[in-house]
Amino acid sequence: MEKIDTVVIGGGAVGLAIANAIAEKGKDIFLFEKNPYLGDEQSGRNSGVIHAGLYYKEYPLKKRLCVEGNRMLYAFCEKNGVSFSKTGKFIVAVNAEEDRMIDRYIDNARDSGALGVRRVSPADVREKEPNVNVYSALISPSTGIVDAADYISCLGREARAKGVEVMTSTKVTGITSGGAGFIIELEEGGGKSVSAVRREEFTAETIINSAGLYSDEIANMINPENAYKIIPVRGEYYCFDSSSRSELAMNGTNVYPVQKEYFIDGARHLAIGIHLTPVFDIAPDGRKAIGKKILVGPTSLAVRDKDDFEKGRLGPEHFYEGIKEFFPGIKPEDLKIDYAGNRAKLETGGDFIIERDKKYSGAVNLVGIESPGLTASLAIAGFVKNLIAA
Ligand SMILES: Cc1cc2nc3c(=O)[nH]c(=O)nc-3n(C[C@H](O)[C@H](O)[C@H](O)COP(=O)(O)OP(=O)(O)OC[C@H]3O[C@@H](n4cnc5c(N)ncnc54)[C@H](O)[C@@H]3O)c2cc1C
Repeated sequence: MEKIDTVVIGGGAVGLAIANAIAEKGKDIFLFEKNPYLGDEQSGRNSGVIHAGLYYKEYPLKKRLCVEGNRMLYAFCEKNGVSFSKTGKFIVAVNAEEDRMIDRYIDNARDSGALGVRRVSPADVREKEPNVNVYSALISPSTGIVDAADYISCLGREARAKGVEVMTSTKVTGITSGGAGFIIELEEGGGKSVSAVRREEFTAETIINSAGLYSDEIANMINPENAYKIIPVRGEYYCFDSSSRSELAMNGTNVYPVQKEYFIDGARHLAIGIHLTPVFDIAPDGRKAIGKKILVGPTSLAVRDKDDFEKGRLGPEHFYEGIKEFFPGIKPEDLKIDYAGNRAKLETGGDFIIERDKKYSGAVNLVGIESPGLTASLAIAGFVKNLIAA
């Protein structure tokens, strides 16, 4: 049986960033991704927002890794030619009751070290985004957007260039843990692309479980005593293309409401709320630039099936209701259906879990890596590198 140093399970932003961070000459690192393409689950189905760190006061890892990851991601994009834009973001309150949340976010920003977050007047908001109507607002200058597909491709290229064996259509189907390391069973040609399935086995010294929505199942394969539970929480998007209503065009700022509550099995969670996110398009000179389309979403709805992105999709009225108070010119018929993604939410909510397995210390489990996981991916990778070196 082939013996290798490290296996990374999952070819999303986090698994790829980790593979990049730990790659070194003479070390065999294999990354297994069950789907035919990298980043086809959470990492390719999100808002692409580079968060600043306004929401995570009670969650030390999310807070620290978001703020650190924000700076690292801008630097990475700059260095590697990945499309990004430091758009800035308004969080808007539409009445006096919501206004109380604005102070809370400013306090959170002070606590996390997110730079430049401050109140702005409704007139300041209108000056930048004339179609946005608010009672009060804050600006977060270090929020931005990244082209997630570009970022994933770049991480994949970099990992391969550093000698990581990045294997797509390769699903981890079983893990036997013991003194000599981990025996990993694979199905090649598995996942969504089943044609001919070939079974393989490897022995690895270290396993990194960065399997997103399936990280609970992988953790359970590593050590059946692990009882993490991931609930897929679907985020659906619509979009608005201002080519059809140029008077409602936006000027490229992220616009968010204050958080909204939702419930999973009676437990209260806070959703970031249906927001407006600028989207990259191909400019006439062939480069990517912010275009006329804006994303409207995502929703937050617990679903049964981790792979179910489409069953029972919501209609445009739901999205209209979410934004009409701060983007009053919009009509339901302006909104067109777009993609959806499922968040890997821990049933218990709370912080990211990034820790060595309690029984088999050669394994590291990353569980509940929901938002701001894209923003934090490079910082998470550094954290894991230190964890396995310790
Ligand atoms: C709707 C939505 C909006 C979001 N918005 C933002 C945002 O604006 N900003 C932000 O920072 N974050 C955002 N996030 C969160 C962010 O997308 C995730 O935190 C991040 O992408 C997690 O990356 P990951 O690599 O851990 O997981 P994933 O991208 O889910 O990757 C895990 C990979 O593991 C693979 N895998 C699973 N099981 C196996 C197996 N048995 N064998 C082999 N491979 C396996 C999967 O196929 C998958 O590709 C959002 C998420 C969603 C869903």
